[in-house]
Amino acid sequence: MALWRKIRRHGTVAEPAPPRPEGGRPPAAKALGGSIQVRHVDAGSCNGCEVEIASAFGPVYDVERYGVRLVASPRHADVLLVTGPVTRNMAEPLRRTYEALPGPKLVLALGDCARNCGLFAGAYGVIGPVSDVIPVDLELSGCPPRPEAIVEALRKLTGR
Ligand code: SF4
Repeated sequence: MALWRKIRRHGTVAEPAPPRPEGGRPPAAKALGGSIQVRHVDAGSCNGCEVEIASAFGPVYDVERYGVRLVASPRHADVLLVTGPVTRNMAEPLRRTYEALPGPKLVLALGDCARNCGLFAGAYGVIGPVSDVIPVDLELSGCPPRPEAIVEALRKLTGR
């Protein structure tokens, strides 16, 4: 009962829903309908992007409202959310994870490192951006991207 009282006292904490993003929906996303299951892969990130992803899925930004859900297995996923530049040790796991997704599938490269290696460009352990290893359907810039931008990018995939 104490928990219920606490929930009642605090009420809803999520931000009001911003307008639906206009355009930018990859054509392949239409095949996924209005909801997506997302598997996240950190290919070599500094974890800054992960902090913002956690916020996007937290109670304030609450991206699950728009039909987005994180899943533990790539076999249950429609979308691969990749952060960081691709390091030598992560290139093959990233490739295999992508192959484990059943189709139709999409890839969102999140953050400057995933797009173009960002701060880590030229580092000895980095082989390149995500698009050098697997096909990318949508990119999101920022170092790290703000939670609002992450929510907007994921809403482009669900169309909600
Ligand atoms: S884009 Fe910025 S925050 Fe994200 S992994 Fe790269 S350095 Fe870290």
